[in-house]
Amino acid sequence: MPCKATAVSESSLRRCIEPFDELRACPEPAEGTAPVEMMTSKTDPLIEFLRGRRSWRDLPEELTLPDDLWHQMDDLWQRSIARIAEGQVSEWGGVLVLDESDNLRLVNIVQGTSRAIMLQLAVQDTRVGTFHTHPQPSGITGIAFSGVDLADAINTGELLSIVQSGEEVFATLRTDATPMFVEWKEVAMQYGFSRNEYVGQGMSEQDATRYADLDLCVAYALAFYCGRAFEPLVEEYRP
Ligand SMILES: [Zn+2]
Repeated sequence: MPCKATAVSESSLRRCIEPFDELRACPEPAEGTAPVEMMTSKTDPLIEFLRGRRSWRDLPEELTLPDDLWHQMDDLWQRSIARIAEGQVSEWGGVLVLDESDNLRLVNIVQGTSRAIMLQLAVQDTRVGTFHTHPQPSGITGIAFSGVDLADAINTGELLSIVQSGEEVFATLRTDATPMFVEWKEVAMQYGFSRNEYVGQGMSEQDATRYADLDLCVAYALAFYCGRAFEPLVEEYRP
């Protein structure tokens, strides 16, 4: 079943992922380990961007997320696949906030279904984005954003959107050229068209999804990063 129409309110939204039939291998792990630079939240480029003190144009090609956040996100991934042996998975997610001390944290954690999740957007701290997981009952990982995910991210005004699917993590950043509003059906259609084209060219589902995301990032001026859990996210596209 394809994703259903969803109403986006101030307090919730829905994320959908497309079902895949074929099991494919994960992308290759990165070679070696990138050096970790110690940064305080005061000097962290991502935090500065999220606080509106730095333009997306001045962001580095690699973004480092706080360790605590990685642990939170990875825990939600583990919960997502906790019953995969029984053929059951569920999306988990939450809202990314900056607290008074500029700590990037995940709050309002909720469980979704195997294909969608309703995120609760009302928070006390500054809401800067969302995170959710993309598990598949087949065990396939490395599935990036759906078209509806990106449409929701644009329409709710979030600056940072993160999806984790296995060890693979994908992120988009809003830029000042990103539209305030998009018609989600139109975005979902563009996404489906692109993805099918790429699958038709022989790409894996993972690559087709990522390239379809990149097409949407070009169309809607979103920056796109990807990487592996606990490692820096590397820029793949910047408007
Ligand atoms: Zn999703």
